[in-house]
Amino acid sequence: MKKMRSICILMFMVAFFPALAQDATVTGPDGKLKVDLFFPKKGEVNYTVTYDGFSMLSNSALGLETNLGRYGKRDKLLGQNIDKVEDTYTMDRIKTSLVHYKANRLVCDIQTEDGRNWQLEFQVSNNDVAFRYLLPKEGETGSVRVMREKTAFHFPSETTTFLCPQSDAMIGWKRTKPSYEEYYKADAPMNIRSEYGHGYTFPCLFHVGENGWVLVSETGVDSKYCASRLSDCQFDTYTLEFPMQEENNGNGTSEPAFALPGATPWRTLTIGTTLKPIVETTVAWDVVKPLYSTENKYKFGKGTWSWILWQDKSINYDDQVKFVDLASAMGYSYVLVDNFWDTEIGRDRIVDLINYAKSKHVDVFLWYSSSGYWNDIVQGPVNCMDNSIIRKQEMRWLHSIGVKGIKVDFFGGDKQETMRLYEQILSDADDNGLMVIFHGCTMPRGWERMYPNYVGSEAVRASENLVFNQSDCDIEAFNACLHPFIRNTLGSMEFGGCFMNHQLRKDNKKGNTRRTTDIFQLATTILFQNPIQNFALAPNNLEDAPKICMDFLKEVPTVWDETVFLDGYPGKYVVLARRNGNTWYVGGINATAEPLKLKLDLSPLHVMKVKHFEGGNNPETKSVKVKDTYLVTINPNDGIVLVSE
Ligand code: CA
Repeated sequence: MKKMRSICILMFMVAFFPALAQDATVTGPDGKLKVDLFFPKKGEVNYTVTYDGFSMLSNSALGLETNLGRYGKRDKLLGQNIDKVEDTYTMDRIKTSLVHYKANRLVCDIQTEDGRNWQLEFQVSNNDVAFRYLLPKEGETGSVRVMREKTAFHFPSETTTFLCPQSDAMIGWKRTKPSYEEYYKADAPMNIRSEYGHGYTFPCLFHVGENGWVLVSETGVDSKYCASRLSDCQFDTYTLEFPMQEENNGNGTSEPAFALPGATPWRTLTIGTTLKPIVETTVAWDVVKPLYSTENKYKFGKGTWSWILWQDKSINYDDQVKFVDLASAMGYSYVLVDNFWDTEIGRDRIVDLINYAKSKHVDVFLWYSSSGYWNDIVQGPVNCMDNSIIRKQEMRWLHSIGVKGIKVDFFGGDKQETMRLYEQILSDADDNGLMVIFHGCTMPRGWERMYPNYVGSEAVRASENLVFNQSDCDIEAFNACLHPFIRNTLGSMEFGGCFMNHQLRKDNKKGNTRRTTDIFQLATTILFQNPIQNFALAPNNLEDAPKICMDFLKEVPTVWDETVFLDGYPGKYVVLARRNGNTWYVGGINATAEPLKLKLDLSPLHVMKVKHFEGGNNPETKSVKVKDTYLVTINPNDGIVLVSE
């Protein structure tokens, strides 16, 4: 029925707007994904997107408002060129290790009413659209300030949404927001006010009725632009929005600027009839390039961190030794020492801790606050990352004492000056052989490929909220069933999870009650992707957690050669397969109230036999011969794990 309706709407459009024949068209290599561009004499330059003949976006505006003038209204298409783009590249820290990117590229040469030239560039692969605005240098003018991007996304009216609202600026704990940690709504209608009235943070997922799915985001955001988001919806239309002026304590501009010639970041759409292209997309990395090369070898792996269960009080030498010993017992590479180490352990004793860790074949990550003047953070070290003189000095010292990476927390917002700070931290850190994890931050936008020492970002309602609020524990499964389709599909996600404690406190007696099972927790180590996984384990788990689980947590990899979507629906359930070398790992979880019987199609994996982890909080394993399909049952708040044998 819905397909019929879309066809009817399409016919209506064709019948009543015959003047709207497209002026330029580009399709993906297999011809299903199609972008049409329109340059009307009076109105705004706009585009439509169809997949397999079905409408995904109807006429949506394009253009920029800049200090040089308006681009995109009553503009003339001077010429167009289509060519093919092919790129094969390797990645060591995302969902796949080898990517063959094939797309058709359309470049439109355009002139504004008052004679300024510009270009629109579209790259369309089988399931992804990436596009950006390019401005040339003409005459003496060497730079441009962009006041507003007119880029719009006009969805068919039956569309429902899976969106995370943007929060107010300068609210929350120590006035640290926004930090991409708000609550999603699943399958919500379009034309409602967002929780704060500031629209939504990327990535944004849309279910276009029976026509399919669209994931909207951006990539290639670096020091030359701000990070953007989507506005609230008006008349089925979202527009690209720049940061709020109030971010960064009101300091710094929310209007990005760049030198000419120059370009905006890429706006991206991932589109499919099913969720498979959404989960498996690599668009965030397909259209960006490494911004610097590195001479350092970075090693990814697993780590422990005391702070998640033992909190601030554990930032002392003796407790950190216990977590080094836990990492060592698990065969993990890293221990992460969280906030206040500078005062609670001290800069001399931290050297002793690093040397002790080294003796146990464990390396150390140290926490830093990014601030600064943009929040009220007192957690130390503060004021080491926002000033280039101090930052370089600090990082040289970190290198000299053998620290392998830093976790930098509590950023000020999405303005261009913060993008510049992320880039400066990454670049200086690489000069000193340091990997970087960001927390209290924005989501990464192609950074896994752009910055060779970038590891991952929080930018999600992460594990700490399970420790803070029982209400977050109560919806843990719901949230976990969103991330593989949304936040984590376009960027590494530092979630810091996998609890073996059932009560989320140091003593495993008080504190919030975990609603999900041990097998659920194991499944998230496959479902949540980050090249370094700091698991929420504590020393007591060596004694009180099931041996089956602890053995699995010793073995599970953190980097993947391939990712295959097997089944799922955002917020309800998800089953993914990921390959490391020759071994496939399948993780599945169920957030619905009923047991879920699934017939998994394992044929893409070519596996003969799997070790099946099941049994919830009484985990057991069985070895099973599998054919192409495999029947599984997943109980509510429970999971399954399959490992190929
Ligand atoms: Ca956080």
